[in-house]
Amino acid sequence: MMTTNNTADGGADDVDRQRVRSWYGLSADIIVEHGLWHLVRIGRISLYHPPVVNLVLRRGQPRDDRLYLSFLHEFGHLQTLPAPIAHVLLLVATVRWRGRGIWGMLVALLAAIVAHQALWELTSESYVMVKTGPEYRRIYREHPNPVGQVAFWSSMATMAFFLSRWLMRRQAVDKAPLQSHN
Ligand SMILES: [Zn+2]
Repeated sequence: MMTTNNTADGGADDVDRQRVRSWYGLSADIIVEHGLWHLVRIGRISLYHPPVVNLVLRRGQPRDDRLYLSFLHEFGHLQTLPAPIAHVLLLVATVRWRGRGIWGMLVALLAAIVAHQALWELTSESYVMVKTGPEYRRIYREHPNPVGQVAFWSSMATMAFFLSRWLMRRQAVDKAPLQSHN
């Protein structure tokens, strides 16, 4: 279990920080501020996250449980980084980016970024579930949050899957215009 230097009163210095090292050797700092905003800092590069996961998925949980799961979620981003990288490479390799026009290109790029982020959220939270196992189930049993869980998993899975499919499908349709695709 991770140790943190969290303050008890949730005041202005309400910052939790931990140095971690991924299974593939990359080191990073994980920081959770005010129990909400969180980021992974790799060297000088800070990857900020909006507190969507904490607001939606950790709703109603005690502070200690929330921070415990939030830290592991951020660590999950680091641990599962190869998956979203593979996803990006797949999109770069399979999606036809040219010939869309400037707006079509921007829309495709936006769709790719959203799909990429959504996939990364899924892999990261899946890491938390696998890593904590019974502890994860205990926390959600004691502090049920079915709306938040359904909202998170369904929205992230929908964005990751359907946006990726839409980007790749456009390629397939262009390649085979005479095929029916209902
Ligand atoms: Zn996240």
